[in-house]
Amino acid sequence: MTTNNTPSRAFQQDARAWSAFTGTNYTSALRQMSSPLAQGLLGPRVSARRLIAALHDHELIGAHGGAPRLGENGFRSDSPWSFNGKSDYIQLALITDMLRMFTPTSDSEAPDVDSYSLKHTAEWFLSPHCSYVSNGRLIWAAATLRLPIADPDGYGPNLLIGISERKHNYVRRMVGTGQTRPQATHYRPAGYEHLRAALPQVAAGELITENWVRPEPVIEPAPFHDWLIQQVGRNDVVGDLAGDYSAGVRDSDHRVAHTADELLAIFHEVSHSPEAYDAVVTSIAEWMRTEPSSAPVRTERIGRDSSEHQGWGAGAGTTERHEYRCPCGDGKIIEDHDNIPGFREHDVWIACDKCRAEWRFVERRGVRDWALEPVAVRPAA
Ligand SMILES: [Zn+2]
Repeated sequence: MTTNNTPSRAFQQDARAWSAFTGTNYTSALRQMSSPLAQGLLGPRVSARRLIAALHDHELIGAHGGAPRLGENGFRSDSPWSFNGKSDYIQLALITDMLRMFTPTSDSEAPDVDSYSLKHTAEWFLSPHCSYVSNGRLIWAAATLRLPIADPDGYGPNLLIGISERKHNYVRRMVGTGQTRPQATHYRPAGYEHLRAALPQVAAGELITENWVRPEPVIEPAPFHDWLIQQVGRNDVVGDLAGDYSAGVRDSDHRVAHTADELLAIFHEVSHSPEAYDAVVTSIAEWMRTEPSSAPVRTERIGRDSSEHQGWGAGAGTTERHEYRCPCGDGKIIEDHDNIPGFREHDVWIACDKCRAEWRFVERRGVRDWALEPVAVRPAA
């Protein structure tokens, strides 16, 4: 870090290089280097010399001693950079941070996010701190970060950038105007929340002292999800449900169902038809029939009540009642515990006619440990 009075050597060198490259005066360049917004919110401050070097030596967009290959409008553009001399470096630093939110795709994946679409997302995301992002500057920042970049058609100004298309879609829908907001966060990029929160703070002059650390990717086992996705394309109710579910995950309309429990819970959060509920029960029955390791179903607790009881002559006790949503959602599962001396009773039952016909308790489990399976898991012979 530095102060405006005694800029560090790196700042001075950067400011000198930027001033020469953009044709602005040194003081103005140094002021940009020192802006709180330009210090790197998801990584180290991007070096101005590194930015300039990418235009020369990057394998795709670098000029390599010849004519510039990248301009304000994009690749193969003869539109020269139009620097305003006041905020160009700050804007590039912000675009760099915006791209750092995403985890780069691996070498085996072809880049597939269009730079022109991404530049609009960057504008939305960085507004009002950076009101205009050109196609060329978006590509420039991506090249400096060494993100995978591909030239899709061999003639146009737009390039493809190697970040997750679904995560880009999540951000676009979160920040864009006229977009349907995502309802789930499984495609939220790693740095999204940190950057969203940090931008207004640094713009208001607050010092961010905490370095952001890219979290290790967590792979949560999702056996039910994995099984259901494999049923996409089947020509029956299970295939139809799997197709709808898969599209819902892809579009972040709902979360991932790691277990059958979670599919039931998700199901009550989205609008659905009675036929779709029957398809859910059929699918869970098939999953439990075909996957020996599948876990039976627990449902969401919706109520809990306990009270003192004066007892039946042998001393006081308590009664406890737990209520859970039944699988179809129209009734309850009720768990009762009477802990009264001389009168101890524990019971659980399905208080829903529809569910009582379609579900049963898994055998050999305690009352508090109850779990359900569809009757159709093992149809009557
Ligand atoms: Zn029910």
